[in-house]
Amino acid sequence: MCGIVGCVLDKKVAPTLLESIKTLEYRGYDSVGLSTVTDKINIKKGKGKIHEVDEKLDLADLDGNTGIAHVRWATHGNPTTKNAHPHNDCKNEISIVHNGIIGNYKDLKQDLINEGHVFKSDTDTEVISHLIEKYMAKNENLLEAVQKTVKELKGSYALAVISTKEPDKIIGARNESPLIVGVSEHGNYLASDATAILKETKKVIYLDNKELIELTKDNVKIMDYDLNPLEKKIETITWTAEMAEKGGYDHFMLKEIHEEPMVIKESLSEESKIKSIVRKFKNFNRICFVACGTSYHASLVGEYLIESLIGKPTDVILASEFDYFKKTLDDHTLVIFITQSGETADTLEAIKIANEKSETLAIVNVVGSSITREADHVIYTRAGPEIGVAATKTYLSQLICIYLLVAYLSDENEELLNKLYEISELSEQLLSKEEQIREIAKNYTDVNDFFYIGRGFNYPTALEGALKLKEITYIHGEGYAAGELKHGPLALIDENIPVVGIVPPGPSRNDTYTNLKEIESRGGDIIYLGANNDPSILEKENKLLFDPRIDETLAPLLYIIDLQLLAYYISIERGIDPDKPKNLAKSVTVK
Ligand code: GLU
Repeated sequence: MCGIVGCVLDKKVAPTLLESIKTLEYRGYDSVGLSTVTDKINIKKGKGKIHEVDEKLDLADLDGNTGIAHVRWATHGNPTTKNAHPHNDCKNEISIVHNGIIGNYKDLKQDLINEGHVFKSDTDTEVISHLIEKYMAKNENLLEAVQKTVKELKGSYALAVISTKEPDKIIGARNESPLIVGVSEHGNYLASDATAILKETKKVIYLDNKELIELTKDNVKIMDYDLNPLEKKIETITWTAEMAEKGGYDHFMLKEIHEEPMVIKESLSEESKIKSIVRKFKNFNRICFVACGTSYHASLVGEYLIESLIGKPTDVILASEFDYFKKTLDDHTLVIFITQSGETADTLEAIKIANEKSETLAIVNVVGSSITREADHVIYTRAGPEIGVAATKTYLSQLICIYLLVAYLSDENEELLNKLYEISELSEQLLSKEEQIREIAKNYTDVNDFFYIGRGFNYPTALEGALKLKEITYIHGEGYAAGELKHGPLALIDENIPVVGIVPPGPSRNDTYTNLKEIESRGGDIIYLGANNDPSILEKENKLLFDPRIDETLAPLLYIIDLQLLAYYISIERGIDPDKPKNLAKSVTVK
């Protein structure tokens, strides 16, 4: 969370900084700020989304060829202009942007106040600019001052620092928060992720923890914390700038839902890699998934598939709860980590612990992200950049990788593999139901609660459908295993609570359908999701129909698309920006 960018160019940097930071807005949108250096620090910052602050302040109107920028997802201090980054030192000679949390900021702040430093914000971040000031006052150069400073910091940080004393450079540092370097003939860049610099360059260097960077227009120097130079490889990014643009859609979320048929195809192209990874696995008798949010729901589908099709004991653990389960790991457990960004703080912490005892696999979307350097094996989900805060296409791509994995874990399950290849074509047909879903959405703009029910493989679909609703409509949605409803929640059902019933064909269809009848006979208003040859569903009014070849085993791959669209259109009807839901940000890099 929070996005940072910095660059030193052969021209005025503020317009480039503004364009770059806009592409990172999915990481946080509490406030935005830019600073550049000439003979002084020039700074503009304000509370709100970038376009709002830009309208008031004209953010690109700053002189200077060296500069930094930030979008914030507040952790310490309210989202106000005062707390917006960049943060300067007492004399406004140093300016910094930070992503992460400084765990020992209280002690550091008290010491600095005792030494006479005056703080202007409530953030943890501001201690960094004052510490650098303190070391520069002792005649250290900017690099040495940052080096001394990071040695005092406990916690996570990706930093970019500029100073009037050395106006032609940026010093960066990385520990437990993402940071990459971009290299071009017009200058060099630092950014939280590659999306920020896709328009500028395709050449990147991925940084590791406890590395310092000295960036000038013509040179990039990467060092360890003792200032020993490090040899790093320059890699080429395959994503394009267009992939991170709306491409004519009103919102990234809608564009990303429409990309799902293509993403399914792309992810299926990983089949041979997945096959060869499966061959490399050591002997294991248990699988354990670790993930958060939407990736957690994808993992639950994995659990149902593996336990029911292969019969291997499987657990799914929330990354933030991992600590309580770590003692159960051993060298016969395969631990699978699923994360879109590869930077999720809780997941990264968990994989470090798991690596001590078990073989690890990461399923991840962002090439070169931190988790790819931790895991024994890596599968890329090939969804391209996902900008909408609510995950859509990456969920589909995670599911495809899980299904492929399951097919190869069960001795090349041909039947499952063949069915997977039918899915991408069927997903295109699904998108043609968009207008119908929009009409249904119009009926649900004023409700307070929603239930989603499904059984087996589609219990996670119910959970994920409810999560999409909560995230982007602010309506309370709850996913339930269909059979569980009468153990409590049925007491809440009346005509004001819509229930989405997921009833694909298959062995569980009749039981789930019976549960829906129970709801109906208590006045519940049901939206049915089922096969287009299911006579009982065909007679219903509120229904979304699917090809009967998609049975309950495969339904998680397609039924969720309708639920994503349903949430999207309810969000639009309620006047909410689904790409930037309040309080949320993508890529949760803090614990
Ligand atoms: N801790 C900093 C702040 O609250 C940065 C937050 C973040 O990176 O999420 O301003």
